[in-house]
Amino acid sequence: MQRTALVLGVLLTVLAAPCWSAAGVDDYPMTAQAIAPGVYAVLTPARDFPNAQNKGWNSNSAFVVTDGGVLLFDTGTSQTIGEALKRAIAKVTDQPVRWIVNSHGHGDHWLGNAAFYREGVTIYASPRVKQRVETEGQEWISRFERMTDGATGHSDVIVPNFEIDERTEAVIGGLRVVFIPSGNSHSPGDILVWLPQRKVLLAGDVVYSDRMPSTFDSDVRQWIRFLGDLEAIKPVVVVPGHGAVTDAAALRRQREFLSTLWAVVKQGYEDGKTDFEIVPLAREALRQYKAGYPGFDDKLGRDVSHVYLQVEAALF
Ligand SMILES: [Zn+2]
Repeated sequence: MQRTALVLGVLLTVLAAPCWSAAGVDDYPMTAQAIAPGVYAVLTPARDFPNAQNKGWNSNSAFVVTDGGVLLFDTGTSQTIGEALKRAIAKVTDQPVRWIVNSHGHGDHWLGNAAFYREGVTIYASPRVKQRVETEGQEWISRFERMTDGATGHSDVIVPNFEIDERTEAVIGGLRVVFIPSGNSHSPGDILVWLPQRKVLLAGDVVYSDRMPSTFDSDVRQWIRFLGDLEAIKPVVVVPGHGAVTDAAALRRQREFLSTLWAVVKQGYEDGKTDFEIVPLAREALRQYKAGYPGFDDKLGRDVSHVYLQVEAALF
């Protein structure tokens, strides 16, 4: 009897297991789009989180072809997505990827590292992001597997091997490259890459173009200041972490959006309102941004809640 129960238990476990299967390289139709001489963006059409439909390909990457090799900015949500990216790069150049930047700590921007890593490849990140990759790698892999019904599959976690903790100018493959920390604005340890000779800013998730900004890991007041700093360097092309390639106007729009959000939440807080009561006020004050930020209605409530906590901490 016990044996029958055991067999039945095993059978039910097998039947209840989700029928997940990992996506292959061919599932990701990536193409590199030239955005400046020698600079390319690989843009996802997705505007949402990793899910079964986009198979986890929800973030952008960019790369720079130099005489000495390729500098790659962000590697995607899985090792397989990294492999697809590698294929898209190989259609443009024979040069190997020799330098990688992991813009920030969210796993959809660095789990593809393993597709490119070999002896001699430098992976730049801030100390905070390096630490997150080290400690949170497996967590991100499991989370994305759940979100994508298994499409993202297994990835080897490859930890950055070069720390950048302040604004740093370098010459990479003969090209001037400036690494700019955001001061933890969108998330702890973001780094952007500025190519002064090309007037291109590789912004990661510090800039959102046609997608509603996410504030859950942010420092909104620092973010507002930092967007002002970025406007001052006058980029001509801006590649966001998600959404379409854009320009300096997106920096200003986002700064104004975040400033208004902060002001409305702060006023509401001072008037003794709850975050729930502030949401309709924020919706009204920010309505001009709705058309440009898909996901506005969905995300606004969460953004108000996150900013509410920050306002509370700032005023305490
Ligand atoms: Zn992201």
